[in-house]
Amino acid sequence: MSNQTILGIDIGGTYIKYVVKQGDLISKGKLFIGDIKEKPDDLIEKFIQIIKKYSPKKVGIAVAGLYDKKEETLSQSPNLKSLEGIPLKQILEQKTKTDITIQNDASAAAYGEYRYGAGKGSKILVCLTLGTGLGGGLVIGGRLFTGISGTAMEIGHTTIDKDGWICHCGRKGCLESYVSSYGLERLFFIKTDRYKSSFEIIALANEGKKEAVEVMEEFSVYLAYGLMNLLHTLNPDKILLTGGIVENYPVIEKMAYSNLKKLAFSLPFRDVEIDLGKLGEFSGSFGALAIAEDSLIKNSKV
Ligand SMILES: [Zn+2]
Repeated sequence: MSNQTILGIDIGGTYIKYVVKQGDLISKGKLFIGDIKEKPDDLIEKFIQIIKKYSPKKVGIAVAGLYDKKEETLSQSPNLKSLEGIPLKQILEQKTKTDITIQNDASAAAYGEYRYGAGKGSKILVCLTLGTGLGGGLVIGGRLFTGISGTAMEIGHTTIDKDGWICHCGRKGCLESYVSSYGLERLFFIKTDRYKSSFEIIALANEGKKEAVEVMEEFSVYLAYGLMNLLHTLNPDKILLTGGIVENYPVIEKMAYSNLKKLAFSLPFRDVEIDLGKLGEFSGSFGALAIAEDSLIKNSKV
């Protein structure tokens, strides 16, 4: 089994990122799909090409959005609308004659960090992905917790203000409407009356520009409320922060930690470690890979 090829693919709204494991060797790749994301046939063709290129024994896929684990379709995906309702697993299995498992990308990221990254050995691991949206994943006792339908840990769409900002999901006051790239852009706009992209804001903060640093500080307060809710609900031993915002502005972790200290119960706060993820933009791909590896072992035992 050690020489078998296993593939982990993370399908986002702009890129496909994948990791290939052949024996002990792991390689990574990244493909731009921003130009074809509205075209499901082209997307599927691209997935098939990657799978056929490596002829893996097993493929794990992580995908942005609510993945219905009973119906095995992508139920809702703000960043990949064209794939909603499509039986992706069935189509890819038929066309590539390969076993496929599919999981939500933030859950996969948590499992990736647990198996290959900064979450190794954690008993109750929460992983938050701060990027275009806000994703969450939970690994308890080494097992990924995804809920009955597969939608657990949608922390981004828990409400922190019933009259708050409109979220991409259409609800008001979701945590994601503050703690995400578009939340950051709104915070900056309200403070300065100027529009800048999240990357520009982070670059300004990294240069030490006062108003950008203040906006990041404000952002970290909202993040701390999210962390407090998780801490009070789950009492985890580790919370990992990952995703584009954190990778480009890692000091956000220290900011959020000191705000969390002021907000949270002292007992769960004492026992939690907040840290940065290790796998960067490939955490979802590594998680997809690990899930595929697990299912291979499970199948070989039966
Ligand atoms: Zn929402």
